[in-house]
Amino acid sequence: MNNFATCPLCQSASRIAFHKEGHPIRDCLRCQHRFCIISSLQEHVETVYDDSYFLGGGAGYANYLSEEKLLTERGSWYADLVRRYTKPGIMLDVGSAAGFLLKGFHQKGWTGSGLEPNPKMARLAFEKQGLSVNVGTLEDFAFTEQVDLVSMIQVLGHFVNPLKALHTAAEITKPGGLWLFESWNRDSLTARVFGEHWHEYSPPSVIQWFSPHELTRLAERFGFRQIGRGRTLKWINLGHAKSLLTYKLKDSAAGRLAGKALEFLNENWSVPYPSEDLFWAVYRKE
Ligand SMILES: [Zn+2]
Repeated sequence: MNNFATCPLCQSASRIAFHKEGHPIRDCLRCQHRFCIISSLQEHVETVYDDSYFLGGGAGYANYLSEEKLLTERGSWYADLVRRYTKPGIMLDVGSAAGFLLKGFHQKGWTGSGLEPNPKMARLAFEKQGLSVNVGTLEDFAFTEQVDLVSMIQVLGHFVNPLKALHTAAEITKPGGLWLFESWNRDSLTARVFGEHWHEYSPPSVIQWFSPHELTRLAERFGFRQIGRGRTLKWINLGHAKSLLTYKLKDSAAGRLAGKALEFLNENWSVPYPSEDLFWAVYRKE
């Protein structure tokens, strides 16, 4: 194992911090970026984001398609947030899956398309929502149109080559245009308390771990300045919460009783809860 694998952000040497699921998690010795090296982009995308990522549980979604309402509302919530900084225009939503977040933006006056590595999800976005979603990754996609907003909601951690991806994002953003990121915060209290057991250490799906300050410095390298940042609410679908809790509570009598109580919850409700380890940030191209 190469102990000097270079940092994807600054190409300096790294050290192994710990192992997770058999993958070495590394810290850059210079910029402190935390990352996991995956051998090939194509292999990463094909194996990590196949249909089972969206429909098979595990590190992905038990059933992504059941999250439609919740994700559409989240898209609308972000569209309202972005309205503080710019009026609606043309956007690109990266990692848009079946287009639910994008739909939320469209409902608030935005136009534009999505980009998604999974062909089935991209096709569903068109068939069910009438949205244009290209199949591909930001690292490898050639765009012709410039946009007013690039949104990356929980996407940054998945990039094999974050510099290449952000280079493309910078190229396609109009002068004065915005980036909207939502990302997990590796410097959060939650991440520090859980250490290597933090839920976001889940290679090979998530392979880059940022802090808000690190992202701001990174955006600055591409000529973008931070103009807003905050904590975000995480919406959870009660059906999903129920299946997780029932699983976790099953080993005790009190837990089983609590599990019984949960059966009366409406599975289609979604609830927001403040998430200490998740943040949003908006950057403007200078
Ligand atoms: Zn580095």
